[in-house]
Amino acid sequence: MKGLLVLTALFVAVFGKKTFEGDQVLRITPKGEAQISLLKELSEQEHLGLDFWREPVHESLPVDVHVPFHSLQGVRAFLGYNQIQYNVMIMDVQDLLDDEEREMVKYRSFPRSTDDFVYTNYHDLNSINSFMDMLVAENSNLVSKIVIGQSYENRPLNVLKFSTGANRPGIWIDTGIHSREWVTQASGIWFAKKIVTDYGRDPVLTDILNNYDIFLEIVTNPDGFAYTHSRDRMWRKTRKPNSGSSCVGVDPNRNWDAGFGGAGSSSSPCTETYRGPSAHSEPEVKAIVEFVKSHGKIKAFVSIHSYSQMLLYPYGYTSTPAKDKTELHELARKAITALQSLYNTRYTYGSIITTIYQASGGTIDWTYNQGIKYSYTFELRDTGRYGFILPANQIVPTAEETWLALMAIMEHTKNNPY
Ligand SMILES: [Zn+2]
Repeated sequence: MKGLLVLTALFVAVFGKKTFEGDQVLRITPKGEAQISLLKELSEQEHLGLDFWREPVHESLPVDVHVPFHSLQGVRAFLGYNQIQYNVMIMDVQDLLDDEEREMVKYRSFPRSTDDFVYTNYHDLNSINSFMDMLVAENSNLVSKIVIGQSYENRPLNVLKFSTGANRPGIWIDTGIHSREWVTQASGIWFAKKIVTDYGRDPVLTDILNNYDIFLEIVTNPDGFAYTHSRDRMWRKTRKPNSGSSCVGVDPNRNWDAGFGGAGSSSSPCTETYRGPSAHSEPEVKAIVEFVKSHGKIKAFVSIHSYSQMLLYPYGYTSTPAKDKTELHELARKAITALQSLYNTRYTYGSIITTIYQASGGTIDWTYNQGIKYSYTFELRDTGRYGFILPANQIVPTAEETWLALMAIMEHTKNNPY
C-alpha cells in the first residue's frame, strides 16, 4: 500500500491532476450477513485501492464502490466467485470527470455581480470567494462575512452572516465539509443568493430573519476543496499530514467530540473515515466548535452532504434514541415532504444509526449534545447514478428542492423557541 501511495503521490506531483481512466463504480447488492462480511473483508484490502462511496452495512442498502482500473479484474472475479450480485453504475469515472471539466470550462465567466453569476455551473474556490464578496458588497445591510478560523493550509474559514438585528439566536448551515461533494457547495451558493432575494419578499423567510440570524459556511473544508480542483477530484478529507503515515487528511465528520473513536470511524490514517489523532484535531472542525460555543444561542444546525437522498438526525454513535426523537422525526417527515413536492425527489429519513450505519464523532451528534435541538444532516442527490459526480444541470433543481426542506426546518425552529 505504501509503495502504491508513494507512486500515486509522485505521479500527481509530476503530472498534476490524478486521473481515473478505466476506473468503474460498481453497485453491489449483497444478500445475507455472509456476503456483507465478505465485502467488509474486501474493503480492508488496502492494496486494491477501493473507495467505498457507500459502505457495506446491511442487506437493505446497496454498496457503491469506486474500483481503480488495476483492481477491476480482481474485484469482479471476487464478486463472481462468491456469487455476489453487482452492476456497473459508472463505466468510466474519467469520462464523467471529463464531461464535468468541459462544462466548467465552457461556462467559465467573470461575473461583475451576483446576478451574472452562473448558478448552473460548478466553481472553484476563488470564484466562490469572489461570489461571497460581491454578495456582501451588494447587500451590506443584510449580509456580512465573518472569519471563524484558518484551515490547516491557512485559508480563511469564511461564514456568511445574514442578520437584521443585534443579539438574535442563530441558525447554522454548512456545506462541503466533505470536499468532493460538489453539489453541496454549489447549493450553498444558491442558498445565499436565495436568502438575499427573498428577504422582504417571502413573508416566511422575512419573519425568520427578523427573529434569527442565519450563518452559512459554504466551503467548510477549503483545503480539501482546493485539492479536488487542482489534484484529486475524489478527495474527501482534510489536508493535514498524519504523523507516522504517508497518508494525508482526517475525515472531518468523524472528528467531533461525540462518541469520538467509537465504531463507524477508523484509526487508520489511510482510510476515508480516519477520525484523526484526537477530537477536534482539525482546525476546520475546531473553528466551528469554538464558534458554536462562543455564540451560545445556535438553535438549529444543518450540515449538508451528498449523496443518498436522506435527511438524518442524531444519533450516529449510539443506538440510544435522542430525547427529542419524536419531534425530530416528525419535522424530518415534514421537510422531506416539502422537498419532494417540487420535483418528486424521494428521500428516506430517520436517525443516522438506524437509517445508514453507526458512525462516531459526527457533526450533528456533537451539536445535539451541546443542546442544539434541531440538528440535522442532509445527504443530497442522487442515489448513485452519478454519485459525487452529479452533472451541473442538477445543481439548481437540487438546491431549489433542498431549500424547501431547509425552510421547513427554519420555520419550525422559529415557531418553537426553546
Ligand atoms: Zn459527506
